[in-house]
Amino acid sequence: MKATEMKVPYLDLKVQYESLRDEIADSLQQVLDNTAFAGGPFVEKFEKEFAAFCQSKFALGVGNGTDALWASLTALGIGQGNEVITTPNTFIATTEAILLSGAKIVFVDIDEVTYNIDPALIESAITERTKAIIPVHLYGQPADMDPIMEIAKKHGLFVIEDACQAHGARYKGRRAGTIGDIGCFSFYPGKNLGAYGEAGGIVTDNPQLVETIKMFRDHGQRKKYHHSIFGWNGRMDGFQGAVLSVKLKYLDHWNENRRKNAELYNNFLGDVEGIITPAQAEYAEHVYHIYTIRVKNRDKLMASLGEKNISCGIHYPIPLHLQDAYRDMGHSKGSFSVAEKCSEQVISLPMYPELSEEQIEKVSREVKAFIGNQ
Ligand SMILES: *Cc1c(COP(=O)(O)O)cnc(C)c1O
Repeated sequence: MKATEMKVPYLDLKVQYESLRDEIADSLQQVLDNTAFAGGPFVEKFEKEFAAFCQSKFALGVGNGTDALWASLTALGIGQGNEVITTPNTFIATTEAILLSGAKIVFVDIDEVTYNIDPALIESAITERTKAIIPVHLYGQPADMDPIMEIAKKHGLFVIEDACQAHGARYKGRRAGTIGDIGCFSFYPGKNLGAYGEAGGIVTDNPQLVETIKMFRDHGQRKKYHHSIFGWNGRMDGFQGAVLSVKLKYLDHWNENRRKNAELYNNFLGDVEGIITPAQAEYAEHVYHIYTIRVKNRDKLMASLGEKNISCGIHYPIPLHLQDAYRDMGHSKGSFSVAEKCSEQVISLPMYPELSEEQIEKVSREVKAFIGNQ
């Protein structure tokens, strides 16, 4: 096949599955043989393994990443009358969870280099109703947690880490999700650690939060049909626990490959005028869930790459404060100018652990050719 014909998908779950085929089949068979479908021993096994991986005291499996965030907010007692600070440059699940808890969303703009919440802007957004900050470790790079933790401590706020894109990433050596009061993960199939269906998880060192979230995810009950708190069906599926146990063993290796792929892209594109490649902060070990560059004619570049059999993504085309669903928040263009500017320029290039050097070379060559012809 000629290089020009080579397809470069944005994401390819199939190649990874092929390499795990027998192990996955065996793990699913065990779930069937034990009829352990909702929660149960396979979920518990994964919880222990994931806690050890994160170097956290506890981990709990839940239904998805949105459940993880909602359960965390609710378990911390956050609800009506409270405000929660986060960034408009995230997937909407972050703010869905805030609204589900009953609290109000308060946005703070992002840092233009890391695309994460700008700690310098947080304090001016705090009111007497503020209860928590949700930093989002976007694209796989942790937010700058030290100043965030300092502000939280000073004002008596909780910190809930949205680590749904940052499985295995590190902040000053510590795993993403383990620095705040609680860390939330999504195991949606396309994430760095992805289930084969819907799943999510939380990590914390706080045993009380663990007890409350165990009840929350199981209809608010500790004893069957004795519902002592508000709850939900937020359990992890047994099959997903088994799949995640198999896949967790390879996560560091896969993340290492993502980092190598990012380095290759950086080598090809880093010095090209008109392209801003991702910057790894000096405190971070970035796991490149998403490899995003910034260019001027983003939409045209995307169309041009599409014609060359290269699929890209945009994360995200509309910052949350400008979404129709949040019209009643009263924001408009100009409210969070850095997030807005980035949303017009970002384009996510193909990124997954099994991406080949030839594929990266092809994508880079085509990006360069487009930029050169501008
Ligand atoms: C994927 C994701 C979520 C939500 O996860 P689901 O499992 O889809 O509910 C939350 N926050 C961020 C930043 C995400 O990328």
